[in-house]
Amino acid sequence: MAKRERRVLIAGGGIGGLAAAIALGRGGIETSVLERSSFTEETGAGIQLGPNATRALATLGILEAIEPFAFMPEAICIHDGISGRRLQSVPLGKSAEERYGAPYLTLHRADLHAGLRTVTQGLAAVELRPNFAVTAIETRGDEVVAKDAAGSEAKGGSLIGADGLWSTVRSLVAPEASLRFTGATAWRALVPRKGLPSPFDAPVVGLWLGPRAHLVHYPVRGGDDLNVVAVAEGGVGSQG
Ligand SMILES: Cc1cc2nc3c(=O)[nH]c(=O)nc-3n(C[C@H](O)[C@H](O)[C@H](O)COP(=O)(O)OP(=O)(O)OC[C@H]3O[C@@H](n4cnc5c(N)ncnc54)[C@H](O)[C@@H]3O)c2cc1C
Repeated sequence: MAKRERRVLIAGGGIGGLAAAIALGRGGIETSVLERSSFTEETGAGIQLGPNATRALATLGILEAIEPFAFMPEAICIHDGISGRRLQSVPLGKSAEERYGAPYLTLHRADLHAGLRTVTQGLAAVELRPNFAVTAIETRGDEVVAKDAAGSEAKGGSLIGADGLWSTVRSLVAPEASLRFTGATAWRALVPRKGLPSPFDAPVVGLWLGPRAHLVHYPVRGGDDLNVVAVAEGGVGSQG
């Protein structure tokens, strides 16, 4: 008889954690996703998914779940941020999909996360454990045990740290590893697209280049909202 794979613990039910649970679940491996939030918060703003990402999502059977909320921009339009002059345009849309074999999509992180959650709910191998903030990890015999501050435990054969940039798992297994601030800070906003002036109403990814700063905008929520991100040098590198 084939050896049964042991349950895998996944700390963090964000984008990476849920995608890992789906990939393992499709392979018949049971997982417990330990997520500190209740899974119901609609947080975040826009995310761009290149064809490499959407191809992976298609392989995992996730693309269908997010396509209704995604937007397929027609191009990336690059502008001089001072003069406003258009410098270049890179075609996306159907031509990029044909060229790369998968679409270039933009969407709200909450829609991507909700799509991933919907897929996990159809997989018996995936157990979601909300409100479980991993604070400690220990090995007990051949098991790994993850604990939260209230003393709840989860046990498995291995553990994947998918608890994001400010990872507790990383600080526990590799305390010497530290984050390095890039020197730039991103500021983001969402605005309704209806009534926006040209060229901000265009169905494209807009990129405006300036001295030590740039601005990116693209439609999300199926095209209803515009996600705007301004990246400028400065800031302190703290969690926003
Ligand atoms: C609330 C939120 C909003 C975001 N918004 C955007 C955005 O608008 N645009 C963008 O490009 N990127 C955004 N990101 C970052 C982006 O999702 C990730 O950088 C990227 O998707 C990598 O995914 P990840 O799974 O490694 O981390 P994340 O997607 O950050 O997921 C990490 C998960 O781990 C959970 N977690 C953290 N610590 C613990 C712990 N100790 N125990 C259990 N669970 C824990 C978090 O609650 C989160 O669900 C956001 C991340 C978060 C958490």
